[in-house]
Amino acid sequence: MPATPTLVTPDFTFDPDTPGACIAGVRPYRNSSYRLDAETIAGKFVVHNYGHGGAGITLSWGCAAKVRDIVARHLTVANDKAVAVLGAGVMGMTAASQLTDLGLKVTIYSDRSPAETTSFKAGGQWAVSVVEFQGKEAELKGIIKTAFTTFEESIGKGFGVSRQPNYTATRSHNLEIVLQLVPGLIPPPVPLPRMPFEGHARAGFEYQTLLIEPPIFLSKLEADLRARGVTFVRKKFASRSDVLNSVAQKMIINCTGLGAMMLWSDTKMVPIKGQLAMLPAQPDLQYLYGQDGYLFPRADHVVIGGTFEVGVNDEIPNRSVCQDLVRHIKSQFGQAPIKPVPDIHIHHPDHAPIVNPPIPEV
Ligand SMILES: Cc1cc2nc3c(=O)[nH]c(=O)nc-3n(C[C@H](O)[C@H](O)[C@H](O)COP(=O)(O)OP(=O)(O)OC[C@H]3O[C@@H](n4cnc5c(N)ncnc54)[C@H](O)[C@@H]3O)c2cc1C
Repeated sequence: MPATPTLVTPDFTFDPDTPGACIAGVRPYRNSSYRLDAETIAGKFVVHNYGHGGAGITLSWGCAAKVRDIVARHLTVANDKAVAVLGAGVMGMTAASQLTDLGLKVTIYSDRSPAETTSFKAGGQWAVSVVEFQGKEAELKGIIKTAFTTFEESIGKGFGVSRQPNYTATRSHNLEIVLQLVPGLIPPPVPLPRMPFEGHARAGFEYQTLLIEPPIFLSKLEADLRARGVTFVRKKFASRSDVLNSVAQKMIINCTGLGAMMLWSDTKMVPIKGQLAMLPAQPDLQYLYGQDGYLFPRADHVVIGGTFEVGVNDEIPNRSVCQDLVRHIKSQFGQAPIKPVPDIHIHHPDHAPIVNPPIPEV
């Protein structure tokens, strides 16, 4: 007998030729740690906020609050009224929102509209996944707490955020980070003698997390920012000196994601390509699934993802990879033969990608 009632099995019907069915993005991963600090160059006060790998949506509000605090401290010695934010992804727009709260005139410069960014392509699970934080455990603790609570408070307010059960066979590294750094933020995972799906005989865990639907979240953020007087300027910067010479504002917030690799000559940045298969929406699916790949039910699609191509910096989806991805998750639900080694490179949630530091007590 299953320990919990059997939940609805996803419908895995997938046509990779449907427009928008296969998408690819590149995670802005940074070796050793994401970057969140300030420097003064050529008379400009520059705050960096990039390199959040596979957790940019997750950490966004927490990092934006840190950016606000850094700028607020700077304003005690400077008399600036305007700030330039570079980047219209989740990092740029959440930072812009916090800086508008300080009463600053905010201009966002970006070579892409919000809907064209990597952030818009993200799956949307709240998970501290594929991001490094060596030596920054205390800072990350605050970021995680602020980010989670800000998202939680926005449930039901049009930001595309919902609380969801997540089923997983093992307690993953990204879950342990949250449990160890911020005990009590989310309830402890509940062990299940058998996962509550047809065809799924393995034991597992259920835990509560948030789902943030990037198309809804980013569209709402953009609309709110415009309503509050934030200006969006389409501009591509060629280099760091181009930024410093062409941006009039004396305060600059660098939220260029992977773009920082070239603009700031940041050799710690590593592109990690991820592909997603977008199945038709299935309103009856009310849970996330994540083990060797993941499945999220969103309002627009059921998203299947988890591929992981280190060093690959292109956004070209591959239909056969997306088909393999669907087949792989389908096999986890007993709907297709299990292959001991999947045809595609899936990120295994038990370990972080390149470096896997132990999580120290804070
Ligand atoms: C397939 C996939 C699934 C993901 N799933 C999740 C998930 O479930 N949960 C989660 O938390 N995260 C997820 N992520 C990670 C998340 O998408 C990123 O961490 C996040 O989007 C980074 O945000 P960002 O604002 O730093 O970068 P971006 O969204 O890439 O924004 C960067 C901005 O800078 C601008 N820019 C860059 N260079 C220049 C330049 N030279 N001149 C002018 N403008 C420039 C760009 O146009 C853009 O506006 C996923 C990523 C991928 C690829």
